[in-house]
Amino acid sequence: MCGIVGYIGDKDILSVLIVGLERLSYRGYDSAGIAVVSDDEISVWKHPGKVHRLAKDLETTTSHARVGIGHTRWATHGIPNDINAHPHCDAQRRFAIVHNGIIENYMSLRSELVKEGFLFRTQTDSEVIVHLVDKYYNGSLRDAVTQTVKRLEGSYAFCVVSALHDNHMIVARKNSPIIVGLGKDENYVSSDVNALVAQTKRVVYLEEETIAVLSDQSVEMYDFSGQPRAHTVSEVNWTAERSEKNGYDHFMQKEIHEQPSVVRTILDTYVKNNEIVFPKLSFSTKDLKNMSRLIIQACGTSWHAGLIGKYLIEELGRVPTEVDISSEFRYRRLLSHADEIVVAISQSGETADTLACIREAKSKYFSILSFVNTEGSSIDRESDGVIYTACGPEIGVASTKNYIGQLITLYLFSLHLGRIRNMISDDVYQKHIHDIKALPVAIENVIAQAPAIKTMMARYYSAKSIIFIGRGLNYPTALEGALKLKELSYMHATGYPAGELKHGPIALIDDNLPVVGIVPKTATYKKMMSNIQEVKARGGRLILIATEGDTVAKQLTDDVIYIPPISDELSPVLAVIPLQLMAYYIALNLGCDVDQPRNLAKSVTVE
Ligand code: GLU
Repeated sequence: MCGIVGYIGDKDILSVLIVGLERLSYRGYDSAGIAVVSDDEISVWKHPGKVHRLAKDLETTTSHARVGIGHTRWATHGIPNDINAHPHCDAQRRFAIVHNGIIENYMSLRSELVKEGFLFRTQTDSEVIVHLVDKYYNGSLRDAVTQTVKRLEGSYAFCVVSALHDNHMIVARKNSPIIVGLGKDENYVSSDVNALVAQTKRVVYLEEETIAVLSDQSVEMYDFSGQPRAHTVSEVNWTAERSEKNGYDHFMQKEIHEQPSVVRTILDTYVKNNEIVFPKLSFSTKDLKNMSRLIIQACGTSWHAGLIGKYLIEELGRVPTEVDISSEFRYRRLLSHADEIVVAISQSGETADTLACIREAKSKYFSILSFVNTEGSSIDRESDGVIYTACGPEIGVASTKNYIGQLITLYLFSLHLGRIRNMISDDVYQKHIHDIKALPVAIENVIAQAPAIKTMMARYYSAKSIIFIGRGLNYPTALEGALKLKELSYMHATGYPAGELKHGPIALIDDNLPVVGIVPKTATYKKMMSNIQEVKARGGRLILIATEGDTVAKQLTDDVIYIPPISDELSPVLAVIPLQLMAYYIALNLGCDVDQPRNLAKSVTVE
């Protein structure tokens, strides 16, 4: 959560920091602030709300500072007001810090520091960092930070500047991501590569428990005991252009429209001469043949992809598979046996709960396979094998194209397993690959119905609640449809396995309640249709996602959104797209900010 930027160099510092914050603002947008050092003084500007408010304040301000830091906040401790907004300074304004994460022992540190006379102004956990730097400062900013990190528990990436040192800044990380961008006569800091790609493609991902010292000419890394540490420079292959809206009204809208090309990219990346090849899978054929169980763990939309992954892996790869929510994973007794793999799924590759599970699983000798979008992220680096979901930057806070990327890569992985484990014949394997190749055009056909879905949603946006029902592979689709709607429109929504309705939730149905039935022609079609009839018999307002040519669906309701005929395994890919569009148009009708819904942040780096 939260975005941190830092810059040292000759460019117009306020512009560099503001542009960086704007590019990171999907990570958190409760408040924004920057601090720069010039003429032995620290100047701070901060504001509750989104970055553009801060940008507006600074429109007529100039600065000749050469070093500065910025922050866009997702509040964990203390309400989002201007006092709690980062950066935070010590009483004499000698130091300023921005922090991402949670300092878990901040209460005891705060009491200790208050007793020693340090003056606290904010309700944040982060403020202890700046007072510790102040307390330990004896002429060297790096030494002060080295002393400070020894006292901190929890997760953090933070950046410090000082009025006493206008020629360098210090960055430290533990359990939270931070990246250094390398320029010529200048260097950058950022929470993720999105804010950097327009400026530089050469980056260093800070290792766990690293302190970095940045000047305009150099970057040095140290471990927490103060020993120098080597670092590796990576080249980023994302372009700045992929992080822009390109004529769409919202990133989410653009990302929905990018879904056909996401599938094409994944096929280009992983299917060579009709054979699936995962260059970074790392597990040997023997490992995959002997695999006795997979445990998938993920959060939010990625968890929904994991639930569908279970069906696919068991159906095609014939490996027993469990799916856990990452934040719950650690509260079960993990009984590990040989030949089992824990699978992590995360768009950002930084999801704190998912990362914590990886570490827990590794401590119990599980091997780790990850599905991540962001190359170089912590989950990528800490896994034994990785499959990239290859979607490019996803900026809309509610995930769309990356979900499709997760589904397709999980599908390819399942096919790969099935092939290696001799569970599917060559013909079946080729048929599945053929089906995926036809998918981009089918997705385009569904997206082409956006105007009709928009008109339809004008009749539903005033509902108090919406229920989504599905079965089998499309039960998780129902969960995802409900989540998209909640995230974007703040409307109450729940997803149920359709067969469960009669065990309780059917009591909710009346003639005010819209029910979205996901009823493509799959193995569960007939059972689904019985459940739809049960809803209709009780007066529920039906919206159906059905296969083209399904005239029965049209007899049940006027509001049918058709998807092209598709295999059972790929039906969740097509069925979710109308649900994304429904959530998008309902949110627009309600005047909600679809790219930055309230209370949310894109990359959830706190547990
Ligand atoms: N815990 C800090 C706060 O509430 C930082 C949160 C963040 O990562 O944005 O201010």
